[in-house]
Amino acid sequence: MTPTKTIHNLPTELIWMVAENLDPVSRMHLRESCTDMNNRIFPPTHKELVEFESTPYGYESGLFACANYIQLLPKEMFADNMTVHKRAKRRSGSIIRFCLECGTHPVQSRPRYTAGDHIIVQGKMFMICTRCGNFKEGKEKKGKGQSECLECWESSL
Ligand SMILES: [Zn+2]
Ligand SMILES: [Zn+2]
Repeated sequence: MTPTKTIHNLPTELIWMVAENLDPVSRMHLRESCTDMNNRIFPPTHKELVEFESTPYGYESGLFACANYIQLLPKEMFADNMTVHKRAKRRSGSIIRFCLECGTHPVQSRPRYTAGDHIIVQGKMFMICTRCGNFKEGKEKKGKGQSECLECWESSL
């Protein structure tokens, strides 16, 4: 009986050669397939993901890169203004685009939202409330200085 040959028997240099020839998303899938691959394959870089989002596959999939995260994410995971205009695919701002999760769970020195920012998600206004500090629905009012969430604003009436 000959021992079963699987990808795990390959020397790491060969695994790298395989991985290098995969697009970043396939590489990530291979990486996530098991602990062994996870240990042996480098995750894609942010730059690779930004490039990949603008490939025909990237357009078809509707996925976008987040500056803080080594995975492509669907549009719904971003504020409305993060995937259009300056931050659309192929535009210069696409490299500083960040998702809602990262933007509202501050990690030091990473791009994020700050208190009082209005964050429009699928047409609805959310914000980091200056009073309670939470990421919450804001008051649907176009007014200057609206920096408290709906709940805090209502409780102060
Ligand atoms: Zn993110
Ligand atoms: Zn609040």
